Amino acid sequence: MTKLTSQHETTGGIPASAAGGILHIDLDALGANWRTLRDKAGGAETAAVVKANAYGIGIEQAVPALGKAGCRTFFVAHLSEAIRVRAVVPDATIYVLNGLFAGTGPTYAAYGLRPVLGSLEEIEEWAGFCRADGQRRPAAIHVDTGMNRLGLTVPQGLALKDRAELKDFETALLISHFVSAEENDNPLNGEQIEAFEAVRSSLPWIPASLPNSSGIFLRDKPRYNLVRPGYALYGGNPTPDRDNPMKPVVGLEARIVQLRWVEADHTVGYNGRWLALEKRRIATLSVGYADGYPRSASARGKSGEDLLAGMIMVAGHPCPFAGNVSMDLITIDVTAVPEKEIQRGDTVTLIGGDLTIDEVGRRAGTIGYEILTSLGTRYARAYRGGQG
Ligand SMILES: *Cc1c(COP(=O)(O)O)cnc(C)c1O
Repeated sequence: MTKLTSQHETTGGIPASAAGGILHIDLDALGANWRTLRDKAGGAETAAVVKANAYGIGIEQAVPALGKAGCRTFFVAHLSEAIRVRAVVPDATIYVLNGLFAGTGPTYAAYGLRPVLGSLEEIEEWAGFCRADGQRRPAAIHVDTGMNRLGLTVPQGLALKDRAELKDFETALLISHFVSAEENDNPLNGEQIEAFEAVRSSLPWIPASLPNSSGIFLRDKPRYNLVRPGYALYGGNPTPDRDNPMKPVVGLEARIVQLRWVEADHTVGYNGRWLALEKRRIATLSVGYADGYPRSASARGKSGEDLLAGMIMVAGHPCPFAGNVSMDLITIDVTAVPEKEIQRGDTVTLIGGDLTIDEVGRRAGTIGYEILTSLGTRYARAYRGGQG
């Protein structure tokens, strides 16, 4: 676990010693992960997806660190996020994935941002805005090759080359998005590449972009001109069937508020969902679902059972959750830890070591992406590195 040495920020000016949870964010690992992905990208430009507050770790810290590593192009979901990115990287190229909302053209222009146009209506609106404005402003076009979420249909994409609106703005990028790139053997990957290739070759002058994190590692290597990793930058495993090639970026410690013994046949937590079969030692931590630690990691059953539920490292011992995760507290069974090894005020590891974001997600019945993007606002945040 990284130590609380360099810069640290705390919520409301409270020192880390008073915080219920301490989030360690390693910006050097973030930069190293970006370089690893760049080296895998086979000459394609490597962008960074920094939507959802840079997957929870903080746009204002992550984006400058990625810029120092060499990243020049950023993707966010919302216009408000793009404005935050612009404030810290004045010269970068910034795309907004969630499309052009009616009437927002002037804001894009004011901040030098690029919409990702995902329908003919959005293309018409951007073209109209550029005509009225007298400038061929850049935008990306999104073609849907299987997600059925955002983007032009493949037939619309194939017909695009004949549309007059394409003369009114700069078609800076053509993108599509994988459905299941983390599954190397899923036949949908090949079908999506084929559909994207058909549209791309009908618009050969537009630079193209397909892979997310996992897409960069696909056997087929569909790299085109630009790759768009997100999750892998933050330490998530882009190759779930193999060892994680990325460095961990996020660690989370929680503070023990109280230690107590619970007698046999007593329950722990709301609704009495966890039963101590014999006397057990319980530690209560000052982190809960209001901090983004999922309630679905609750341990419902009996002491000693092997439940698919939250785990935690306490003085080097893995300890299971006990009972429901509450809003502000988590209860864990620390009976296996020698009594003298822990005391009130100690910190324990919720994310770190073997408790990777992927593993924490699996234990909560979700994915590491959701663990990252839920990371709460009450933690003391300790950033290290990021100077290039
Ligand atoms: C979120 C997103 C990405 C990044 O995906 P990861 O799996 O996090 O690498 C890339 N492209 C689009 C369109 C996205 O929405």
